[in-house]
Formats: sequence, structure tokens, C-alpha cells
Amino acid sequence: MAGVNTVAGKFDAEVAVVGGGPAGLVCAIALKAAGVDALLVAPAVGPDHRTTALLAGSVTALTTLGVWQGCGPHAAPLRAIRIVDDTARLIRAPEILFSAAEIGLDAFGCNVENRYLLAALEARVAALAVPRIGAAAIAVTADDDAVSIVHAAGTVRTRLAIGADGARSLCRAAAGITTKRRSYPQAALTLNLGHARPHDGTSTEFHTPDGPFTLVPLPGRRSSLVCVLRPEDAQRLASLDDGALAQAVERRAHSLLGAMQVEPGRGLFPLAVETADSIAHGRIALVGEAAHVLPPIGAQGLNLGLRDAAVIAEIVAEARYENRDVGAAAVLARYATERRADVTSRSFAVNLLNRSLLTDFIPVQGLRGLSLYLVGRIGPLRRALMREGVVPTTALGRG
Ligand SMILES: Cc1cc2nc3c(=O)[nH]c(=O)nc-3n(C[C@H](O)[C@H](O)[C@H](O)COP(=O)(O)OP(=O)(O)OC[C@H]3O[C@@H](n4cnc5c(N)ncnc54)[C@H](O)[C@@H]3O)c2cc1C
Repeated sequence: MAGVNTVAGKFDAEVAVVGGGPAGLVCAIALKAAGVDALLVAPAVGPDHRTTALLAGSVTALTTLGVWQGCGPHAAPLRAIRIVDDTARLIRAPEILFSAAEIGLDAFGCNVENRYLLAALEARVAALAVPRIGAAAIAVTADDDAVSIVHAAGTVRTRLAIGADGARSLCRAAAGITTKRRSYPQAALTLNLGHARPHDGTSTEFHTPDGPFTLVPLPGRRSSLVCVLRPEDAQRLASLDDGALAQAVERRAHSLLGAMQVEPGRGLFPLAVETADSIAHGRIALVGEAAHVLPPIGAQGLNLGLRDAAVIAEIVAEARYENRDVGAAAVLARYATERRADVTSRSFAVNLLNRSLLTDFIPVQGLRGLSLYLVGRIGPLRRALMREGVVPTTALGRG
């Protein structure tokens, strides 16, 4: 490793970020931008046809880090969110339209194809000359003073490892952190499509008894679809030819956007919620899906992961500035404290919403219908919920 032996020759870098998904790349960029001696242990990422709805706070963070400039031109603003109860149940919620203008914003955020987001992140990593080992970590071990990360071409030693290595995190296992996992009897079919009518910047979420069916704007007359169904139904839909699939999607969308053409690249994702019992331990801190996996409902997953990355980078930069050990227990404890409320409340809310859709128990359906009715009618409550969705107070107010 050239150019990273800065810590008295004993370490290859102060911090290693393991994993080159969006959370890991953002973390590496934020650390490097703050002057921290960080390296990436990240093999190249394969094609990803999904899109990500990034809320306004995430867009601001990516702009500050010099990333949004690279992918913003490919993103579509989300000016309104429509929620339609498509359950055909006895107690149905009224249709609700949340408009960003109601809380003084131009848009709640933006939807961007992951390929553009990842390309902009990779370009920023390269522009900042973040040192990189382009191979996977094979083994991670931590002792009192350091973390050792073994990869195909050798070993790196750092004071802190940041595990951004996704849902099956090796770093999490190395830290001895267990998880709580719940699988849902659901899978998400994802694809992008063109359509005859304009979406006018409105994302529409049909709540069906099997799960949400969500159309999210892309630039022009294009949208991305996340369709949550029973796994066997999702599989059946995914195996249709383009024409039949386009018709099936149009039917489920009640022809809201007119005739549709599906684009190449379909994804099938089993749904689960998984939360690490601790976000950091023994010189290893977790960010993104290594720490929490959420079902793709309400666009929370990566937004939460980006906040993890921003918070750990800030805490580490501060420790570095004060000449403290960046992997010390006190640093990790502060990270855990600062992320607890945000992660817990988001996981709880997304889990609850998904379960209330799945349940056949009438009081729960009624409660959900009533809450959505109240939210739709009461201005201050609506506005508070919309603001909380875009700039969560639990992630702010930090010391
Ligand atoms: C259908 C769907 C739609 C979604 N839509 C949204 C949305 O609209 N908005 C939103 O905020 N979130 C959304 N999400 C969630 C979002 O996609 C995830 O939160 C995000 O991809 C997680 O990023 P990550 O970097 O934490 O993990 P990953 O993207 O899984 O990246 C982990 C990386 O680590 C690498 N890795 C693994 N093991 C090792 C190792 N041993 N050594 C080195 N590298 C390793 C992997 O190769 C991978 O590149 C959605 C998720 C799904 C399934």
C-alpha cells in the first residue's frame, strides 16, 4: 500500500472502510474530505438496475461531498407523494397527497438510478485519490490496539474498521455482533419503465394486501417500480415477457400513467428486516445494511445508511483532530448513542406499516385507516410527518 503509512509506520491507515456499496463509498469520501487517513477495501460492484429515492437531507449531504454534481442531472425531483389504499378491505384509508410545497420545499428529494449514483460516488473516490484495495476482505480480526483485514493480496492494519459490507457483513461477524432478523412472506420486483402520461413529479404508492406497489418518477416519461408481492407471485410476474409484464403493471397501476414499456433489467429481492444488536464493538463500526436492513417501503434504507456514514465520519474526524485513538471504545460508544434513536424509530415505523398492510385483523386495518385519515385532514400533523420524513429530528440535535 503506497502513501498510507502515516501512523508511525505501524498501521497502513487509520481507518479502513470495508465494502464499496453506496454507504461505504460515501463513508470513504466523507472521511477523506475531513482529512482522515482512510483506505477502501472494496471489489468492483456489479450492475444494479434499481433506483434510490434520496430524501432532501441526503441530497444536501451528497452535494456537500461533491457527489451530487455528478448524478443530479440524471435524477428526478419528487414533488409530491400520493398514497392510495388499494386493499379492497372493509376499512379502507382515504387517498392522501403529500406535497413538498406544503412544507416550503421544492421537492422531498430525488430519485436516481443506482448506476448513476454509484458512478458519481466512484468518480469522487477517484478524484480524492482514496487508496483502494480492489479485493474483498477474507478475514477481519480485532485486538486491543488494531484491526487486521486480510485480503487476497495481503493484510492491512488499521485503528478502526468501518463495516459497509452489506447485509451478510463479515465485519459484523468479526465484531461478534448478532442481529435480529424477521423475514416477510414477500418479495420486491423492481424494474424501470416508460409510460405514455407524465408523472408530474408525483410518486404514487398503491397499498395492496400483498404489499406496496410504488411508482417513483425518473426524468422524462419514465418511472421506477417497486412491486411487493407474495414471493411466488413476484416470481410469476418477473418471468413474463416484456409485453405481458407491461400490461400487468399498467393494470396494477390502474392505467394512472397510461400505456407502459418495461426496460431491460429486472430485480427480485426477498423482503426482510434485520437489525444489528449493536452498531459498533471492538474497533469495528457498522454502516448501512451491515447495521440495518429495511423493506423497501418509504425510501428509508439508504437514507439511513448515508446518515450512518456522515455521523461516523464526523466523530472520527473530531477524534483525529484531537489526537485521540479513532478506534477507541469511547469513539464507538458515541457513534452508537448518536445513531440509536434514528435507526430504531425508522425500523419500527417501516416494520409497522408493512405489517399493518399484511394483517387481516380488522382493528389494525381500522387503526391504519384512521391514522392515514387524520394525517390527510390535519395540516400541522401532516407537515410534521413530512418534515420528519425529509430531515429527521432524531438524526439532528447532536452534541
Ligand atoms: C428493491 C429495493 C429498493 C430500494 N429503494 C430504496 C430507496 O428508494 N431509497 C433508499 O434510501 N433505500 C432504498 N433501498 C435500500 C438500499 O438499496 C440499501 O439501503 C443500500 O443499497 C445499502 O447500501 P450498502 O452500501 O449498505 O450495502 P450494499 O449495497 O449491499 O453494499 C455492500 C458492499 O459490500 C461489498 N462486500 C460484501 N462483503 C465484502 C467483503 N468481505 N469485503 C469487501 N467488500 C464486501 C459488496 O460487494 C457490496 O458492494 C432499496 C432496497 C431494495 C431491495
